[in-house]
Amino acid sequence: MSNYAIFGDIHGNLEALQAVLHDSEQRGCQHFACLGDIVGYNANPSECVDIIQSMNCPTVKGNHDVEAIGIAPLLGMNPVATAALSWTREMLSLEQKTWIRRLPLVSDKYPDFSLVHASLDSPKLWNYILNAHEASSSFRKQIKQLCFHGHTHVPQIYISDTLSAANTADIKLGKETKVFLEPDKRYFINVGSTGQPRDGDWRASYAIFDSENRTVEICRVEYDVVLTQKKIIDAGLPERLAERLGAGR
Ligand code: ZN
Repeated sequence: MSNYAIFGDIHGNLEALQAVLHDSEQRGCQHFACLGDIVGYNANPSECVDIIQSMNCPTVKGNHDVEAIGIAPLLGMNPVATAALSWTREMLSLEQKTWIRRLPLVSDKYPDFSLVHASLDSPKLWNYILNAHEASSSFRKQIKQLCFHGHTHVPQIYISDTLSAANTADIKLGKETKVFLEPDKRYFINVGSTGQPRDGDWRASYAIFDSENRTVEICRVEYDVVLTQKKIIDAGLPERLAERLGAGR
């Protein structure tokens, strides 16, 4: 069996991360990959960095990770994200910041798939891929059949016919959450967010890739969201961050 658990946008949510790791191990995953945004928004950035660092799995950096290790004033983000990031900057150790700084923007450590936080065409610009048209730019740079990404916090599967990036289909995930990879197609898959889902479902999201059966499944896991919310309030982070977790928005 070769099952890979791919997760990202953890955003300092320790309870959600632990739930995802437990669930994926129960489902027989032996390999792991992280799509970045380990920190930001929630109250356990340092603990989440420690876990990912100790797992020693392929990991790419996200925009919140980059901001959290910076020293420049936080510009261009909403006030709630800014408040959480300046708090996060205080929480991370110098050693943790150095580890984050060394993370790549794209990882090809696993032969079967690539990893990127936002999009392959310009990983540093942190573009939000929200539809098939926007996904087509990323497909132009996708060499492997499979690439996983996050950033929007909404699970989504984009499919490209053969090598033509123009023919990109956009699958909105409803009840059907498992896809069989057809050999002549390419897939650009958003695994959703572990620590702050925004698709109306509060449960932590991640993906399992079964390399033998050639399937990708989006999985949702319940976690102790009340505890996570309490920690946000206790840390003095904006209350809005606790509210949105419960609504999955
Ligand atoms: Zn994120």
